[in-house]
Amino acid sequence: MSTDSFPPGDGEHPPASSTRVRRVACPSCRTEVEWSTDNPFRPFCSKRCKLTDLGAWASGAYRLPVPDDPPGAESDDFSER
Ligand SMILES: [Zn+2]
Repeated sequence: MSTDSFPPGDGEHPPASSTRVRRVACPSCRTEVEWSTDNPFRPFCSKRCKLTDLGAWASGAYRLPVPDDPPGAESDDFSER
C-alpha cells in the first residue's frame, strides 16, 4: 500500500495571502469584510449595518432564509421495499 497517494502541498488553493483571511459579505450592504475576531460586528462590516439588521429583525421584516429542501430527492428512508 502506498501512503503517498495524496500529494503534499496544496497547489489547488490560490495563494491569497500569507494568512488565510476569510472574507464574508455583509448581509446588510453586501460589502466584503474580513472575518476576523477583531471585528466585533461580524459578519457585518460595521456597527451601523449590524444595528440596521437587528432593527429589521426586531421589526419582523427580516426573515430567516429558509432553504428549499429538495422535494423527495432520492429519499430512501420512507420507501421500504
Ligand atoms: Zn455593511
